[in-house]
Amino acid sequence: MNFFEQQLTERERKEGLRLFRVWETHKEHYKLLPFQAEEDMEQVDAVLKGSVFYKNAKYQEYPAIGDIVAAVFNPCGDSVIYRVLKRKSQFLRTAPGPGALYENTARQVIAANFDTVFLMESLNKDFNIRKMERYLLTAWESGGTPVIVLTKADLCENAEERLAQMRAAAPGVLVHAVSAKSGAGIEELKPYLAPGAVIALTGSSGIGKSTLINTLAGRELMVTAAIRESDGRGRHTTTHRQMFALDNGAMVIDTPGIRELGIWAVNDGLEDSFEEITLLAAGCRFSDCKHEGEPGCAVCAAIKAGELPAERLKSYQKLRREALHSKRREAIRQKKSNAYKNSCKNQHLGRHTADT
Ligand code: GDP
Ligand code: ZN
Repeated sequence: MNFFEQQLTERERKEGLRLFRVWETHKEHYKLLPFQAEEDMEQVDAVLKGSVFYKNAKYQEYPAIGDIVAAVFNPCGDSVIYRVLKRKSQFLRTAPGPGALYENTARQVIAANFDTVFLMESLNKDFNIRKMERYLLTAWESGGTPVIVLTKADLCENAEERLAQMRAAAPGVLVHAVSAKSGAGIEELKPYLAPGAVIALTGSSGIGKSTLINTLAGRELMVTAAIRESDGRGRHTTTHRQMFALDNGAMVIDTPGIRELGIWAVNDGLEDSFEEITLLAAGCRFSDCKHEGEPGCAVCAAIKAGELPAERLKSYQKLRREALHSKRREAIRQKKSNAYKNSCKNQHLGRHTADT
């Protein structure tokens, strides 16, 4: 039994619950397919079990694209989702929305259960290594394995050089340069798209995500920018999201760019992305060394010796400050949300005693 199958209890099985994957999410309904794909099975319409979800559930526990859910199949109408299974990986949207004070809307899952994250950037415009370091953090934290895909190699004269720069900035991460136009590098991506594998695509609009997926699929799965523009609608302005299947059984989730996702508690990811700094820091005299010129700082020594680019330390420090900042902001949010809940409780209690 795999990670998901073992989460379904004997009792749930007896009650007729089966595992499905969420392929489309609309406001209050979902489209599912059986978790273990059955050939030519049509997508199933589903709704949430009201008594489970609309009482007390945190936003996180609502189904997102890619989620595996336990549901009762209804051949004559809407199937019913009872619960979302524990996720292997997830992207959380953290940009505070209008309801951010209330726990429900503060952390929204954008995509779940992907194996690999394609961090995409185009080689011609907006090529930015510092930005990619940031994206890598979010990707490591998601639980998926990041892979950097640099698009539009045909439009870049120094593609080789940029590829090398990116590889140096992302130790331990595979970096590919591809062109959907010339076909260069496309073969290198195929191993990630094995049957049953789930890929999450991230990257700003216009960098060639749809074109790449269509090239890999060999047909028009996703609507490309040119067509989106002609009908005047942006991709992410629509209220529904969906996942795409390649013919071989690989699955692709399109997500908004990581910038839109915001940075969550980046600490774990920070250590992974800047592994060489973490390793060096273990040799600093003070355990809380900030690597800002303290005596016995091994990180500063490595910079002096030319073993670590000063730029890397700068990026690391900048991101660490941001991480601390977002942590503090989260603590404040939590406090406000607790205060709000308590005041609701007190009000409620007050009214209750007045009534009786
Ligand atoms: P998305 O918003 O990331 O999905 O971007 P699209 O796939 O819609 O591509 C945006 C534009 O870039 C379109 O006009 C594509 O034709 C173009 N494009 C995508 N990939 C390539 C490529 O490898 N080479 C070139 N020259 N153009 C590309
Ligand atoms: Zn130090």
